[in-house]
Amino acid sequence: MPSPVELVQAIYPASMRPSLAIYLGRIMPAPLVNRLLSSLSPEVRQSLERKLVSVPLPIRTPIYEPGREPKYSYFITSGIASVVTEMDEGSVVEVGLLGREAVPGSLLMLGAQQGGNRCFMQVGGTGLRIGFSDLVQEFRRSPEVHARILQQVQYEAFTLTQLSACNRLHEVEERLARWILMVSDRISDDVLPITHEFLGQMLGTRRSTVSMSAAVLQRAGFIEYQYGQIRILDRPLLESAACQCYPMMKRLHSDLYADAVSLV
Ligand SMILES: [Zn+2]
Repeated sequence: MPSPVELVQAIYPASMRPSLAIYLGRIMPAPLVNRLLSSLSPEVRQSLERKLVSVPLPIRTPIYEPGREPKYSYFITSGIASVVTEMDEGSVVEVGLLGREAVPGSLLMLGAQQGGNRCFMQVGGTGLRIGFSDLVQEFRRSPEVHARILQQVQYEAFTLTQLSACNRLHEVEERLARWILMVSDRISDDVLPITHEFLGQMLGTRRSTVSMSAAVLQRAGFIEYQYGQIRILDRPLLESAACQCYPMMKRLHSDLYADAVSLV
């Protein structure tokens, strides 16, 4: 049975798909550009764009699975993909958070080893799809693509180490504030379409603990929380409530591809 995404791809031409994406889940409005692609020179970008197909990426779309080479890679143009580590007993924690600055799975392009992480769309959006083997070929062939992917690998590695320490050392409330700000930065919106269940998974904690922490931030007037939606009411106050990882993550995010001339 084809998925909703496959159905749309089969029925509609590529040019119509982004507008149809809104019917397929929680889709965030955002410019349909990817910062990694935009950082490439026009010649390299155009040769890559010939292999790209515009696709909707509804919430929960799998991007890659543990221990398996993915069929496709996606240059995200809106929405958020979460990289999570899952334990045997079912507990999950987020170790990476990627938006339109990235093509998730850069670590998988470096060699044949398969990791234990899973990546999926946590905020629905859109992307430009390319065959995984086609992208690996470009990574090996083009020095420019190679350099940008390696920059993303470095970004992902720094994110991983920071979030691992954060998950172990910082309190749920400050991690929640950090997380809300990180997602908001990546979708360029102060309203986040997120449920308690997801929040618990991302922060590796019980749903009830997340609910209590969200209630504290709401009572303080930093955020407004309704089922399935968080709205930032006071960003400076929320930043003051976040752990020290937030400014670090913000700097990493803004410095990514900083040497490129054609960034959006
Ligand atoms: Zn932290």
